[in-house]
Amino acid sequence: MEKREMKMSRKCMSCGTPKGMVRFEDETFTVGHRAMTTVVEGLSGRRCGNCGEIEFDADSARRYAAAGDELVLRERARQSREIRRIRRKLGLSQVAAARLTGGGHNAFSRYERGKAMPMPAVINLFHLLDKHPELLKDLVASGRRKVRKTA
Ligand SMILES: [Zn+2]
Repeated sequence: MEKREMKMSRKCMSCGTPKGMVRFEDETFTVGHRAMTTVVEGLSGRRCGNCGEIEFDADSARRYAAAGDELVLRERARQSREIRRIRRKLGLSQVAAARLTGGGHNAFSRYERGKAMPMPAVINLFHLLDKHPELLKDLVASGRRKVRKTA
């Protein structure tokens, strides 16, 4: 009886199709986060034949979510290394980099240890400076002017 219940199709909670949710077993899914993807095998649950809504079984849902979390951590670690690499290439100390981008004097120490995520504007600026390091002197010069004006 319980076995039959498991195999029965259910109404889709997303699009409302009666018996829309049909069981699937042992499928492989690709989890993506920004440019990174990973593959999770052997997942089971129900899928709506109408709208494609997926409802994983509890264990599959845990494994799918864990794979996503792992990607977020890997992306964060990659970004930390990237920020450090560009900062060193520009010859900036962590304090000088923080002065340039805001976020407090220990912001870069936190970014590079993966304790905090830089704002997208900081990441974009660093990628720009990575390609065009000569622009740094314009930034530093305009920063100095501003300091003098307000002092
Ligand atoms: Zn549906």
